[in-house]
Amino acid sequence: MQPSIPISILLSKEIQNAVLGQVIQDMQLHCFNEGAYVLETLSFDRIKELVGKKVVQANANIIHVEGGLTAEFGYDNGGIRVYDRKKEPSTLKKTPKTGGYTVTFVFEDICLMVVLSSWTCRFKIYDDYQLVPRYPLDITDPTDFTFTRFKEWLDSRGNIAIIDACATYKGAFDVYISFMNYILWMCGIHPKSKLKKLSENDIQCLYENVVKMVRDFKDGTLISEYVDINGNKICGNNVSLSLMTGKNYQKPCPKCGSPIESVKGSGTKHYFCPCCQVLKK
Ligand SMILES: [Zn+2]
Repeated sequence: MQPSIPISILLSKEIQNAVLGQVIQDMQLHCFNEGAYVLETLSFDRIKELVGKKVVQANANIIHVEGGLTAEFGYDNGGIRVYDRKKEPSTLKKTPKTGGYTVTFVFEDICLMVVLSSWTCRFKIYDDYQLVPRYPLDITDPTDFTFTRFKEWLDSRGNIAIIDACATYKGAFDVYISFMNYILWMCGIHPKSKLKKLSENDIQCLYENVVKMVRDFKDGTLISEYVDINGNKICGNNVSLSLMTGKNYQKPCPKCGSPIESVKGSGTKHYFCPCCQVLKK
């Protein structure tokens, strides 16, 4: 049996409303591509333990049920998709190298499908999951996500590359890597620059753009085109998600005209402008 492709995508903030108080009727796991990479962070052993339990909290990264069990999942190229159980799903595209799975939470009216299609994905079930974000500050709360606290947090990460601190499954904001690379381009920061080498101005600029853009992203103001749960097509109002991606490789930087370059890191490629974003290592 082939897995299904989503007909709609929910924003993180809408997931809770869609499934809160509902009982998980079934859990289904499909492998749609065996791939070349081992997904170390995936463990499906306990998947059936969630069946029959009522959801008490849910967002784009966790589903927490009565009794304390929590499924945690994350993605780089995947994500949560929702589809109507009455509609016929089609087939997911196969990719040649990365492993791929879908985990489907079946509810009475809808299904939440977690698509895990990158080696950076994770899926695990915990007995005692701390219901706090991996990033200690609440970015949607301006009194919590302050410049000082952002700086302290960056300090605590050691001397890793900025892109590793802020994107990917180990990163802070759970945003797409291309989106974080767009923010870094706006700030003139090379994705592989080390945290300890960033200037006060770099960090200030990063903070301001993260506040504006990631918050807009999280609350749904800024988003790519998607189809909502009622089948309505919601048009994206930004190009930022695709600017720093492979499709613009060697195309002119919108700021200075230099060809956009790529650099490897975190198991993927990062796109940047070699003129606007000088590496500090
Ligand atoms: Zn440039």
